Amino acid sequence: MSFEQTIRSTAQCRGIGLHSGAPVNLLIHPAPAGTGIVFRRVDLDGFAVEADIRNLAKVSYATSLMKKGVLISTTEHLLSAFMGTGIDNAIVELDNLELPILDGSAQPFVDMLLAAGLKQQRRRRVCMRVVRKVEVREGDKFIAIYPADAYSVEYSINFPAPIGRSAFEVELSPALYRSEIAPARTFGFRKDEQAMRNMGLVRGASLENCIVMSASGPENGPLRFADEFVRHKILDLIGDLALVGRRIIGRVVADRAGHAMHTALVQTLVRDHSVWEETPEEDHRPAAIDAEATYTLRG
Ligand SMILES: [Zn+2]
Repeated sequence: MSFEQTIRSTAQCRGIGLHSGAPVNLLIHPAPAGTGIVFRRVDLDGFAVEADIRNLAKVSYATSLMKKGVLISTTEHLLSAFMGTGIDNAIVELDNLELPILDGSAQPFVDMLLAAGLKQQRRRRVCMRVVRKVEVREGDKFIAIYPADAYSVEYSINFPAPIGRSAFEVELSPALYRSEIAPARTFGFRKDEQAMRNMGLVRGASLENCIVMSASGPENGPLRFADEFVRHKILDLIGDLALVGRRIIGRVVADRAGHAMHTALVQTLVRDHSVWEETPEEDHRPAAIDAEATYTLRG
């Protein structure tokens, strides 16, 4: 069996938000077992916003949380780092509305967390074990989760050239997350930049924090992986699925999905308790696959 974890000491960094361009200081503190991940806006009297799907804000290019009008924007890379490194409990303090983008990947967060050190807590980790399949379709986008003995993700993308088609599959062990997923950076297309800026997005984007793609390829290469794009989609997916509030045991399959599809899957899981059961981690009793549930989003 395994136990919940937090960090041993406070970790910190500063940077700017990808979309807001706003400077932000980030402090990550240890937290007691059972806390989960809680954000606090220290510029707003420490107002707390839990990393929970109930606090999901309107999703566009990033996954943001909102509670009583208080926003915590672009949470997915840090939540992904917590999930990938096996941290269940932490208090995240920030003094602005958006998390720092840093280098565009989860690597700096993983490095900070590991430098602070992991601490095993006294409470057994209880997971969400998927026992019936859930499929969500919207046009040609697809995301599903199936019963399995571990948490794994299989992702396919199909972007305009020069990215094109790509697929990647990984089982979410801390070692594989760290080596194969955490370093993959966010990306965008030069041709979309002005339209996104006009919508108030990507104001903090630069060649230091995002792969910028032009017609001929990356403007700021070399890539960290030849298939860095699909790996980053997996990074985002892991961060978005963290909003279920516990570790998942199941196999996720996504095709051309994005934040809205990722969070739709989370909402379906949280709403329908018949498709999963609570189970202590490392309890490898085979999941009962006696019924099927298929969900289709209304387009
Ligand atoms: Zn991302």
